[in-house]
Amino acid sequence: MKTMKIGNICAEAGEKSSGYVKVKGTDIELPVTVICGEKEGKTVFISGGVHNAEYVGIQTAIEIADEILPSKLTGNLIILHLMNRTGFEHRTMSLVYEDGKNLNREFPGSDQGTVADKICHTVVTEFQKNADYYIDLHCGDGYEELIPYVYCVGAAAPEVVHKARQMAELVNVPYLVQSPCVSGGSYNYAGSCGIPSILIERGCMGRWSKEEVELGKQDVRNVLRYLGVLEGNVSQRTYNPVDVGNVIYKNAEHSGCWYPTKKVGYTFKNGEVLGEVKDYFGNVLETCVAEMNGILLYQVGSLCIIKGGPMVAYGENPNEK
Ligand SMILES: [Zn+2]
Repeated sequence: MKTMKIGNICAEAGEKSSGYVKVKGTDIELPVTVICGEKEGKTVFISGGVHNAEYVGIQTAIEIADEILPSKLTGNLIILHLMNRTGFEHRTMSLVYEDGKNLNREFPGSDQGTVADKICHTVVTEFQKNADYYIDLHCGDGYEELIPYVYCVGAAAPEVVHKARQMAELVNVPYLVQSPCVSGGSYNYAGSCGIPSILIERGCMGRWSKEEVELGKQDVRNVLRYLGVLEGNVSQRTYNPVDVGNVIYKNAEHSGCWYPTKKVGYTFKNGEVLGEVKDYFGNVLETCVAEMNGILLYQVGSLCIIKGGPMVAYGENPNEK
């Protein structure tokens, strides 16, 4: 009989087991559920709360862990409900409370570094190590507006990219971005290690709703059904995501107040103004100008904008081709 073991959490075939897994070298305990299917098969890792104010992803992970039964699985699920727990409990948005690092820039981490490095290292060595596939549940951060979309790994072996794309195409969102990164992000690093991985962006601005969580759970269930891990057929979707290429991530050059001129999901022409950063007297410090015709994927939605932090992200409008 097969046993799944993550930290001190064990599940035999046909069992679900929940508890806390310690981040090695710290006192931090992360909430985890392991579901071991009645029938043997592939193992899917699902994580929420890499960014701790991305509540739709966290609540989706919590409900998926509660609702999916071992009797419906051919294979196993490892669900990490909340990766940045101390950040969540101090409401730090993107950052790890103890060291101010953004977890999704630190993978694969190290057992020798600060808390963020150790969390990444534990996720890689305890969770990703046991996974055949990976779904990372994100959202716009507490200060970010976004239109729902999905990332898949792009810098990985061709068969890994191919499988990740097929997973991403089942997510019920209008747009898909194939990422060129190999490290930094949890799912990027997993992809570079041969694990087909996707990242779902749904919800934003430190809010969550039952409707968004229902859509998030449908996405997860459909990907699991496609992979043959969850019984049942892939359900009908509103969207078949289309590729947004050449994504530009623009950071702010000044701290101050941010005045966007567009809404997420809107399209614009090369040279149009996307927003301005002003000082606290209303003087313009910088103007964000579109460098190509594009579609806005996300932007800062708070008045506050921070030097070196995100401002806008946009890519080529696939409907223009
Ligand atoms: Zn995120």
